Amino acid sequence: MNKDNSPKANMEVLGEPRNFIEEHIEKDLREGRNNQRIHTRFPPEPNGYLHIGHAKSIVLNFGIAEKYNGLCNLRFDDTNPVKENEEYIESIKRDINWLGYEWHETPRYAADYFEQLYEWAVKLVKMGKAYVCDLTPEQIAERRGTPTEPGQESPYRNRSVEENLDLLERMRKGEFPDGKKTLRAKIDMASPNMHLRDPMIYRIIHVDHHRTGDKWCIYPMYDFAHGQSDYLEGITHSLCTLEFEVHRPLYDWFLDQLVEGDYRPQQIEFARLNLTYTIMSKRKLQQLVEDGDVDGWDDPRMPTISGLRRRGYTPAAIRNFAQNVGIAKRENLIDVAVLEHKVREDLNIKAPRYMAVLDPLKVVITNYPEGQIEEMDIINNPEDDSMGSRKIPFSREVYIERKDFMEDPPRKFFRLAPGKEVRLKSAYIIKCEEVIKDEEGNITELHCTYDPETKSGADNAGRKVKGTLHWVSVDHAFKAEVRLYDRLFKDEDPGKNKNNFKESLNPESLKIIKNCMMEPALKDMQLENKMQFQRIGYFCVDHKHSTPGQPVFNQTVPLRDSWSKKSNQQKNQK
Ligand code: ATP
Ligand code: MG
Repeated sequence: MNKDNSPKANMEVLGEPRNFIEEHIEKDLREGRNNQRIHTRFPPEPNGYLHIGHAKSIVLNFGIAEKYNGLCNLRFDDTNPVKENEEYIESIKRDINWLGYEWHETPRYAADYFEQLYEWAVKLVKMGKAYVCDLTPEQIAERRGTPTEPGQESPYRNRSVEENLDLLERMRKGEFPDGKKTLRAKIDMASPNMHLRDPMIYRIIHVDHHRTGDKWCIYPMYDFAHGQSDYLEGITHSLCTLEFEVHRPLYDWFLDQLVEGDYRPQQIEFARLNLTYTIMSKRKLQQLVEDGDVDGWDDPRMPTISGLRRRGYTPAAIRNFAQNVGIAKRENLIDVAVLEHKVREDLNIKAPRYMAVLDPLKVVITNYPEGQIEEMDIINNPEDDSMGSRKIPFSREVYIERKDFMEDPPRKFFRLAPGKEVRLKSAYIIKCEEVIKDEEGNITELHCTYDPETKSGADNAGRKVKGTLHWVSVDHAFKAEVRLYDRLFKDEDPGKNKNNFKESLNPESLKIIKNCMMEPALKDMQLENKMQFQRIGYFCVDHKHSTPGQPVFNQTVPLRDSWSKKSNQQKNQK
């Protein structure tokens, strides 16, 4: 097979190779390999939602196709009907599109090739290079040997071609129960590469498949499907994570037995993305969903693409991150703060600023005329003039953040305190005159005065004070729920606790705050709209819990990396 109908890479647009894979590709292009076609694929198994690790592979595969004027397929690697389903397929397609990528033509499925794969299995049998084995998968595993000791040959290894053909056909017809027989490649039980020790290539699973229904009860193993699928699709560079490096000789072996001609897809391995405080195994993520530890696959604390999306991450931030962490041959652990930094960087430019008070304390401005309302001008985003400005109502009573006031402040506290002055953002300078308390001594409100000469934006606003606070007008604010998120795991490497990774779940990873006070403009926010709450962080409108006119806000990231601060404090305490 040598598909030639796809575009050729344009050598003139080649930039600097960004990593060793691009170096490899450019070398192939210079040498005219595959008629200078570049064709990659992203091959998820539809047994869960995509996570940030997959994003790295998506950005790599689709990015290479983009850069070299090539093509990238989406192929569902659906060889195990037990774990796979349509919900996952739909979510995977949605997530890839949301990240900003389009696959070539329609999605492909390994299941589309089941008939061809079966014919190839028959061909191997006829060549005397595959046999039906009656050992159970457990017995096969027991006899595989160790990397330093050869394995034992199966007693069924030398069945005749005729007998094998007959048994294989009967396997296909459903004459045997699950696990009773397998088809194995006949390679070398003494190979130093364990994957070449007569690997299983077909197993019996009497389960319907989401695409082929009850047509099959034998299914090919990943190793027998992947390389051949790449070949059938004309893939030139099959990029996968390092754990497949040891499978490569088998990948090549099958194709060398089964197909003619020069064209071969080239498998190249790179290190998977690992993030601190993050679990990246679909199986474990699924366990969290099933056990109700999180609010579904798209819980904003999940490292899934749909979780990050619900949390307010942008596709651009994720793509920048994936490009930034680079492609290497060696496993490493990336600080999740790097990802958070990318999100801040992107939202800083894109997100309009609003005022929201999460823990309100009422301030009465005693010398401000009762009933007066002023519309204050406020810039939407100081980073981008084109985003314009809006009006925000100011009146005699406002809420400020409770922690922005201290009755007995330390020396460097530049916020509000008795007798001290602060500026209310985009409004006036106020001075705290009196602290009102209830019978138990809790502060219930502050009485302040304002200086009418200090209106923000006016020529004579000249007077400067050190602190500026955000606020909302009591009469105009509306109440809303805000959800603050912390890391889902307390442990930097939660996966290291193999038996019970859930022990390191952070019980405080979700904090729901009711009755936050929001500026009126926030009422009209649409689902997934992103914004900065001044002095607090970036937020977005939750698409699951919001109702029309009553948004619920998810915190995307705080303005600063609160964790580095926390860990510094911890260090200082020691
Ligand atoms: P998991 O181990 O999380 O279940 P997987 O490797 O089984 O993931 P697949 O659906 O088989 O998931 O992965 C599709 C593609 O994404 C594969 O090419 C795989 O190598 C790649 N991939 C998976 N996890 C990562 C990761 N953490 N970093 C980079 N690429 C990844
Ligand atoms: Mg996999």
